[in-house]
Amino acid sequence: MRSGGAGGHETPRTVVVKVGGSLVSDKRTDHDIDEAAVRDYAELVADLVRSHPGQVVFVAGGGALGHSSVRRKEHDGRLALLPLTRATFDVKWVWTEAFRAVGLPAAPLQAMAMYAEGPDGPVFQTGVVSRLLTAGVLPVLSGDCVLTAAGGLRILGSDHVPGILLDGSFGPVRVVALTDVPGIHSGPDGDSPVVPYLDAADPERAYACLWPTAAWDTSGAMHGKVEAFFSHADRGAECVITRGDRKAAGLRHLMAPMSAWPHDLPRTLISRSRPV
Ligand code: ADP
Ligand code: MG
Repeated sequence: MRSGGAGGHETPRTVVVKVGGSLVSDKRTDHDIDEAAVRDYAELVADLVRSHPGQVVFVAGGGALGHSSVRRKEHDGRLALLPLTRATFDVKWVWTEAFRAVGLPAAPLQAMAMYAEGPDGPVFQTGVVSRLLTAGVLPVLSGDCVLTAAGGLRILGSDHVPGILLDGSFGPVRVVALTDVPGIHSGPDGDSPVVPYLDAADPERAYACLWPTAAWDTSGAMHGKVEAFFSHADRGAECVITRGDRKAAGLRHLMAPMSAWPHDLPRTLISRSRPV
């Protein structure tokens, strides 16, 4: 499906901000979540929402809770993954409370209730997201398990969740992943330069840059992000990977044309056309 955004590097209508679990938790443990870090990011996101009401959707990375739930499956059968919806709801709730604490109305939305795969393709239910935005309530999404065409469940990782919003009614959409690296490094380690731009039509160039993923990471780390973001970009979204800094001065540039972003801020942009 090709819709949802222009990918043309103007000002987006909707920005989906995903804060990676790596910024607020240690995914190797089972329950860690750094509430002080969550609070700092909630404050930054709240400032962005206040300056652009109705234009921001939040996606929480699964972090320790999400990853540990996937590592130890408790249920059998085709709904074996169901505990993931509870674990990721806990993550959404932590964020929702943090937004409330800084005075920003926010409400958690279960991705499983917004997306399913049917025999005729995916089904998207995004009307409530639009209503929340209009009502001045920040939608708080996260990864989840979702129904497959065969009637089982599969994991929809948080990097894939912005894809739910690319049905056309929110575009042009920009998806920004705030993570623990400044973008996709071109070489074998963090000393190598960050690739500033990747053409949505050429994912192989990104895969060629990626480092091996640790066994404890259930979402493939940057591999999962690259797979998801090339798919979003192919559907018209402008996708950016950049480092999150909980002490940053602000996030308002996330809503500006890429050309107006701070020049010294490393990032990787994945889109259908190169920025001017
Ligand atoms: P998040 O919690 O934000 O989803 P992830 O841990 O899933 O973050 O993905 C970011 C990680 O991807 C980095 O910490 C790094 O270890 C890994 N990675 C793999 N290849 C690269 C690369 N070429 N450039 C940058 N990071 C990479
Ligand atoms: Mg990840």
